[in-house]
Amino acid sequence: MSTGYCWQEIFAWHDTGRAGRLRPGAVTEPYPHIEGPDAKRRLAALIEVSGLLDHLVRVPARPASEAELARVHDQRYIDGIRRQSEQGGGFADAERHTPFGEGGFEIARLAAGGVIELSHAVLAGRVSNGYALVRPPGHHAERDTGMGYCLFANIAIAIESIRSTRRGLRVAVVDWDVHHGNGTQHLYEADPEVLALSVHEDNLFPADSGSLEERGTAAGHGCTLNVPLPAGSGNGAYLEVLERVFVPALEYFKPDLIFVACGLDAGAMDPHGHQTVTAAGYARMTDVLLAAAGDLCEGRIVFVHEGGYSPYYVPHCGLAVIERLSGHDTGIEDPYFRLNELPSQITTSPQRAVIDRAAGMVGVA
Ligand code: ZN
Repeated sequence: MSTGYCWQEIFAWHDTGRAGRLRPGAVTEPYPHIEGPDAKRRLAALIEVSGLLDHLVRVPARPASEAELARVHDQRYIDGIRRQSEQGGGFADAERHTPFGEGGFEIARLAAGGVIELSHAVLAGRVSNGYALVRPPGHHAERDTGMGYCLFANIAIAIESIRSTRRGLRVAVVDWDVHHGNGTQHLYEADPEVLALSVHEDNLFPADSGSLEERGTAAGHGCTLNVPLPAGSGNGAYLEVLERVFVPALEYFKPDLIFVACGLDAGAMDPHGHQTVTAAGYARMTDVLLAAAGDLCEGRIVFVHEGGYSPYYVPHCGLAVIERLSGHDTGIEDPYFRLNELPSQITTSPQRAVIDRAAGMVGVA
């Protein structure tokens, strides 16, 4: 077994600047933007100093071509990102929530191209599975706009690259970022060959997005399944979602390849989310998906980093995931292991009610 790994230092150079307001009546002290480089860079550092890097196969990123981006995004949107990037930076969305600095276009292309390269490596059997530690993230990006710190839809761009050479390939996306994977869902809602599964904190971001009622459209009806967990959900609820909803949905769908939109912002110390998943929880969740991939698609699974904003805890959660993927235990302990004893790690009845409803939808169009 071998695990491909994609990280380039230049991903940390994606510049989101400072956030804050100094307008009269709306004063917030400017502070580094919450989607800064530290969480991911510290994960990359821990992978190196723990020795885990020696057990991974480096898969270099390359810039996605404009033609590859254009399979997913409108040309006008791509042109707008390129133009702003050349002019010193700008925003990928009208709401100005998704800033980027000079050269941000090239860095975002490199992130998308890294996921493309890793996906092809897994599909061709050059590595057994993989982890793309890319930045900026992608799962909120829509066809014609960026959103939620995402410029380009990295996973969708990789799916379309693969499908350009392998027609009829069935792809599942399991999104466990704490936010709804709206971009992936919308890009594939009418597509019966892509299964979009998302577990997220109910109505966190985007607003009013990711309900149980959203099941896909036209021929894709039934190929979208959302599990909006109440705030305060922990390891117990997340594991139940995987075991009782997502694994049965994968077994029903029979994918040839599985992507995991691996946001780590359902982690217990995240400044954006309000869930309490721990490094041990992520390890067990990874084991469940690895077993499913082993049963269904010869182990072909590609993890793609999305959100996750705690520079303290993301490195340990990410290390736990990649240890499970590679089968190598570094022996590094989670310094915040006491989080495993939080009362919120046990599934509550409101959480179980949502999981029960979602489980009842598997295989029902
Ligand atoms: Zn997120």
